[in-house]
Amino acid sequence: ATPMSIMTATGRGAHAGVLIKEAAALERFSSVDTLIVDKTGTLTEGKPQLTDVVAAGEIDENELLAFAAALEKGSEHPLAEAIVDGAAARGLKLADAADFEAATGKGVSGTVSGRKIALGNAAMMADLGIETPAASAEAMQGEGKTAMFVAVDGRFAGIVAVADPVKATTAEAIRALHDKGLRIIMATGDNERTAKAIAARLGIDEVRAGLLPDRKSALVEELRGKGAAVAMAGDGVNDAPALASADVGIAMGTGADVAVESAGITLVKGDLNGIVRARALAQATLRNIR
Ligand code: ADP
Ligand code: MG
Repeated sequence: ATPMSIMTATGRGAHAGVLIKEAAALERFSSVDTLIVDKTGTLTEGKPQLTDVVAAGEIDENELLAFAAALEKGSEHPLAEAIVDGAAARGLKLADAADFEAATGKGVSGTVSGRKIALGNAAMMADLGIETPAASAEAMQGEGKTAMFVAVDGRFAGIVAVADPVKATTAEAIRALHDKGLRIIMATGDNERTAKAIAARLGIDEVRAGLLPDRKSALVEELRGKGAAVAMAGDGVNDAPALASADVGIAMGTGADVAVESAGITLVKGDLNGIVRARALAQATLRNIR
């Protein structure tokens, strides 16, 4: 494209909250046929709220939540914030945790009031050799909630679940991108049942769930290896490698700094309609040169 048409597109984009850092990314966008989108914080608000606390052992609901929240004070994960805020809303007093450890993409563990507490997904519990009744989480997951298992002293003690609302603008943006002929794939570290419930509501073509952080960039490479031209949209630290390796990386301006630094395009307000806009700008730019 001519420098002039690129400048015009960049200016128009900025006006609409679409920051184009890399002119080449915009040019490549016109030929993109596949869009990978992160779930949490990209399709959804990224502000999950506590919805369920189910105690299964000898300790009661509030005790279970207080153990979980005491541990999550040490985590910066959006799920952690939901649990800590949920405990505060119930007026629970939180002890301090010791030996805090975070297992990326799995959960957290540590000691609270002399009890060994672990909190996380099925993979986390499997790593610790703790048996969990899968059925109890499945109904919540089918509603699009993220259910986390809680273990006390090495035994399953209950479930805490959170729900993260889909952004008001997401459904419309996904529909418009579909109309433009893009194949849309959700990539998430969350479990498959939860991911599929949300994808079905949005009409997303394909779901890759339970991904550890390095698997998102592996997915980009896999699709590119099959000849796809791939755009990736994400907001998290764990999305940064995939944003960098995609043909076009699109960061949510509301997300982590490292995500923005890794992407050629940033959506200031994190509104996915910005992707529709960027695609239109890319095609207008291309038409100018031909
Ligand atoms: P996403 O891609 O949706 O942002 P992550 O890769 O960060 O997800 O996490 C994947 C899963 O690991 C979560 O859905 C959750 O079950 C578990 N997990 C990760 N961090 C925590 C935490 N701090 N507390 C509880 N569970 C966690
Ligand atoms: Mg995210």
